[in-house]
Amino acid sequence: MKKLTSFAFLLSILMSLTLISCSPSEEDTGGAGIGIPQHTKKLVMATNAEFPPFEFKAEDGSYQGIDVEIMQAICKATGRELVVEDIAFDSIIPAVTSGKADCGVAGMTITEDRLRNVDFTMPYYEAFQVIVVPKDSAIQGTDDLKGKRIGVQIGTTGDTLASDIEGVSMNRFSKGADAIVALTQNKVDAVVIDNEPAKAFVAKNADKLVILSEPLTKESYAMAVKKGNNELLSLLNTQIERMMNDGTMASIRAKYEGAAE
Ligand code: GLN
Repeated sequence: MKKLTSFAFLLSILMSLTLISCSPSEEDTGGAGIGIPQHTKKLVMATNAEFPPFEFKAEDGSYQGIDVEIMQAICKATGRELVVEDIAFDSIIPAVTSGKADCGVAGMTITEDRLRNVDFTMPYYEAFQVIVVPKDSAIQGTDDLKGKRIGVQIGTTGDTLASDIEGVSMNRFSKGADAIVALTQNKVDAVVIDNEPAKAFVAKNADKLVILSEPLTKESYAMAVKKGNNELLSLLNTQIERMMNDGTMASIRAKYEGAAE
């Protein structure tokens, strides 16, 4: 009887171990692989869906945009299920480093600072920071930003860049769209933001706002993964390269980039 009980105990431990190894968190990292057949692996993408045309929430509540479609294509090609975690932009890297998300895909610029905490894939998009001003503004370029009230999305490269300009007073918003609203209400003098979101936001205020033609910087967007997650890094790089070569990337971009114009 005692033997039977301990056998049952052992069996229950074995069963729970099997359960653990099949748990979603193992699948999320794609790291199980100890000979256990896996069904659909999940790929958790952390993003901030306030950044059209790269990621935004559609009226029906679904997540859409260039980044979302790129990740959907990657998941389709590699037999994964995409899970979108919509969080604050400055929480994306912490989510990746803590393992809550497998990757950060958020029109995210490769910077030296971020490279200290995460690994980046190869670039998949060349972007730049632009200055948005009211139509009648005296601000004509970067030099005119000195001493001005600047609106940015918190934690972005636009934030870092503008903060370095002499004498500025920074107004940091959790969404780029809110910085644009502040600009239309004359609460800030200019907004520094990425070019494509700038186009999308300005299109909605075409009677009031303009984007200055001289960009502030050139940047490269890439996907962030946890440092040392080489398996996922190489999977993403292989897929990015494939989609750049077979035209998938171009057709996803074409679908969204024209939309705001
Ligand atoms: N490209 C900018 C950055 O990486 C902004 C990204 C965003 O707001 N989603 O900081």
